[in-house]
Amino acid sequence: MMRPVILSLFALLTLSTRAFCTVTDTSWCNHQLRPELKNLHEVKTSHPWYKVYDVGHHTYAIVEPYNWEETICYLIIGSNKALLFDTGMGMDHVLPVIKELTHLPIWVLNSHTHPDHIGGNYEFSHIMAMNTAYTHHSAANGYSHQQVRDEVTPGSICLSRLPGFDTAHYYIHPFTVTRYINNGYIINLGNRQLKVIRTPGHTPDAICLYDEQARYLWTGDSFYHGPIFLFDEATNLHDYGTSIALIARYACNATWVLPAHNLPMVKPTELIAAANAYTQIVTGNKKVSAADGDVLTYDFGQFSFKIGKQYLNQLKGLKGKM
Ligand SMILES: [Zn+2]
Repeated sequence: MMRPVILSLFALLTLSTRAFCTVTDTSWCNHQLRPELKNLHEVKTSHPWYKVYDVGHHTYAIVEPYNWEETICYLIIGSNKALLFDTGMGMDHVLPVIKELTHLPIWVLNSHTHPDHIGGNYEFSHIMAMNTAYTHHSAANGYSHQQVRDEVTPGSICLSRLPGFDTAHYYIHPFTVTRYINNGYIINLGNRQLKVIRTPGHTPDAICLYDEQARYLWTGDSFYHGPIFLFDEATNLHDYGTSIALIARYACNATWVLPAHNLPMVKPTELIAAANAYTQIVTGNKKVSAADGDVLTYDFGQFSFKIGKQYLNQLKGLKGKM
């Protein structure tokens, strides 16, 4: 998920929408935790910005529930190393949280390199990344304060949860990639292996992970509960269609889907429903539910797709390929 970071006309429209929305968006300090989180086993750490949940199979979901993004990172622990899948918003240090959960060597990998997923990358020394031009650019540049300042407005974050946080200078650090990987790469954590599945669409470097033994499927921003954002300049609606169809096939065998926003454990049937829903958009069988400037919402209840009107032509030729 990410607001547009390049100041196009579209971005300005979105920013003005955001300003309007803050009127009703009282405060993230009054925001109630999602009730589903109460059903999960919480693990207390000494870092209250994060909520940590044990989601089974030696895996922790590290949630940032006090910012509108509600980003989720995952610490996936093997017998001789651990993978941190995403590093969050970079508003509070994430490395000390990880150190309370494991003493194993940590490798970082990002579901994609939007700023809400790479904020803590600079804290780590072992980072693997997809070998795409988009990833190279994100690693080399990070995101400037101007690009991410909207994340820290009073309507976007509960600042009293983060004493001393300097919103005026918040930015996303660049980071150094130590190993480039490609589609199908197997991450070997010792007693468990994770398969990297290239799923471009939300961004060109978007990936999912599959643990065949645990039957866990991590979906990044390709699927989660809530509005799925497909209006960034880096989005490709054609690629997204083939990617969500691909991961829906993995979901047929999965026990849980673990997305990068909102809720850490989602039933695989919901991802399959989302893939079917996207097919309805592709075939023209789903009408637009709402329009906000150039962003069209196709609402399906638990999830919706927010699609950039100007990219709809990318759907041509996708019919029958999903
Ligand atoms: Zn995101």
